[in-house]
Amino acid sequence: MNRINVTRSSMPPYEEFAEAIKPLWESHWITNMGKYHKELEAELRDYLAVPELSLMVNGHMALEMTIQAFGFPEGSEVITTPFTFISTTHSIVRNHLIPVFCDIRPEDGTLDPDKLEDLITERTVAILPVHVYGNVCDVEVIQSIAEKYNLKVIYDAAHAFGVTYGGEGIGCFGDASIFSFHATKVYNTIEGGAVTFRDRWLYDKLYNLKNFGIHGEELVTDVGANAKMNEFAAIMGLLNLKHLSEALADRCRVYELYRRELVDVPGIRFLKTDSSQEGCKFSNNFAYFPILVEGSFPIDRDALHQRLLEQDIHSRKYFYPLTSDQACFKNKFRKLNLPVARDMAKRVLSLPIYEGLEEETQYKIMDIIRKA
Ligand SMILES: *Cc1c(COP(=O)(O)O)cnc(C)c1O
Repeated sequence: MNRINVTRSSMPPYEEFAEAIKPLWESHWITNMGKYHKELEAELRDYLAVPELSLMVNGHMALEMTIQAFGFPEGSEVITTPFTFISTTHSIVRNHLIPVFCDIRPEDGTLDPDKLEDLITERTVAILPVHVYGNVCDVEVIQSIAEKYNLKVIYDAAHAFGVTYGGEGIGCFGDASIFSFHATKVYNTIEGGAVTFRDRWLYDKLYNLKNFGIHGEELVTDVGANAKMNEFAAIMGLLNLKHLSEALADRCRVYELYRRELVDVPGIRFLKTDSSQEGCKFSNNFAYFPILVEGSFPIDRDALHQRLLEQDIHSRKYFYPLTSDQACFKNKFRKLNLPVARDMAKRVLSLPIYEGLEEETQYKIMDIIRKA
């Protein structure tokens, strides 16, 4: 049997990559903000329609460095969502800050702004919401609350590559947004990431932080780290960007087929995304296909996951458990009621979606779901 994973990395033709990396054997400049690093930064700024962009070695370091750049006092609180990949929460804790977990909205899985204000204390410094599955957070309400209490907003936009909202690039919202270009994401540079923002000072600050805090040859001003993207990754990024529209068109085909065939299955629910909502202001990037297995479905999420697994189909329980429940965080932070997040974590299942997923495989997956 052919193992089917939840995702598969998009790659340019081998010959194209081999040709593109040849100049590196002449220059011997293979990292440290080289030619291709600069080129990719400029191209991604255009593609994502953002004023400023800083490339990073991965999405996680993009988050960590961005939080560090704002220089919040140790022990400050950051309001965030537990319904995300563990990286979001790690980036807060590794900066010696305290995550305060806010519940999510049942319709799209993003942070519920109605529950936000109650969590603000005199120690709150920032809000870190996630555009989970590429679903756009309520950026307007979050912004107005942030302004009222003088908080920074940093979006984890790891899932939202290329998404626009009201015609604007999603990376234009808040004080900064981070993207992941990991191999498993909709767009990849093998490993990679970026931070997008409006203010130029943040570009300079991140440039410094991702290079050990070094200024010139003899001066170190910040306790930075190493978060630079290398030239091989940047070239992969340039090529994948060139082929992105084909990749997205193919993902759209997969996405639409799931939607059409599963929409009538009793007990299977979708989250609200562009294509299911009249007058929705954001565009979908077809990065994920999460379904919710409702109580009325004959078997529960775990059993459905298992049935797919028996056919070597590796759907994923994204996101279960909640990050707040993970072994490394359990009972460490303020205990909060998270009924919606808890329920969604129990019911959600992300189905395989990637460029080149065959229709036949999709029908096999959907048959297993229907026969349940
Ligand atoms: C993938 C991901 C990250 C981390 O990105 P990497 O590039 O893998 O370091 C952070 N947050 C979310 C929500 C992610 O899905």
